[in-house]
Amino acid sequence: MKSHPSPWIDPILAVDVGGTFVRSALVGPCPDRGTPRMGSPVKVALPWLGDNGKADLGVLTTHLRSRIHETGATRVGIGFPGFFDRGLLTASPNLPGLNNLPLADDLSRALGLPVAVENDANCAALGIHRFGTPSHQDDLVVWTLGTGVGGGLILGGKLWSGMRGMAGELGHLTVEDDDLARLCGCGGHGCLETVASVSGMLRTYTEASGKPCSDGLTLYKAALRGEPHAQLAFERGGAALGLAMSLVAKTLDIATMAVGGGGSDGFALMRPALEAAWHTHALPPQRERLDLHVVAEPDRMGLWGAAVLAGC
Ligand SMILES: [Zn+2]
Repeated sequence: MKSHPSPWIDPILAVDVGGTFVRSALVGPCPDRGTPRMGSPVKVALPWLGDNGKADLGVLTTHLRSRIHETGATRVGIGFPGFFDRGLLTASPNLPGLNNLPLADDLSRALGLPVAVENDANCAALGIHRFGTPSHQDDLVVWTLGTGVGGGLILGGKLWSGMRGMAGELGHLTVEDDDLARLCGCGGHGCLETVASVSGMLRTYTEASGKPCSDGLTLYKAALRGEPHAQLAFERGGAALGLAMSLVAKTLDIATMAVGGGGSDGFALMRPALEAAWHTHALPPQRERLDLHVVAEPDRMGLWGAAVLAGC
């Protein structure tokens, strides 16, 4: 018997798995039965082992079973930091022991409920498409700014995940190729996330000022006060983002861009340089059509997307 039977109809447990923390929330009822709503998210640190897939699958299963018991959820949607090829987890940089597992099938069997799983950035794109932009856009490019830069493509109203689930890796578009281009975690140089992520902007500040700065909020406040090196960090990140957006617009002929993620608070400081770079690099017919949306409640978009994945 459930400890807290849910009053919601056919509710979904929406889950956002991170390298350290797992957040989850109950979502329901779904749109055909009324306005969707989300309960308060619960965030816990799980004792991942990283290289032991069987143990980590057990850790996740135990946590989800407990949350299902608490909430009365009848289905589960999960955003997960890895790449999926038709349900098979092909690469999981944070939890490599889970590589090559049919994660949704394994969890569904263990929990006795329908489970849907998708890459976490793609999940955020699904959430932003449905709940994070003011008007429903059938063609939309999503950029998530945080420790890295993620992305997602919504084409014709549907998530485009590519041949191997790796579409929308926008943080690894090459935007700098001069002497300043930095080595990226992917092995390339000059990737967008080396300058437009929070960690990239902190590095720009430290290199320019000679002073360490360890968190984005401090950098943001310094830039608001007019500290020139902090302002430079947001300008360089914004210019790189504007160039990257113009490259995607040239490829897809989409000029509707949504910016979310935990680092989007400082986006207003990036925006002038972004728009200047867009005007420099976009094709003339696209130049006046940049339609930029800043996502409200960006931290919840991964959870909303997980709910969409599960059928909300
Ligand atoms: Zn890269």
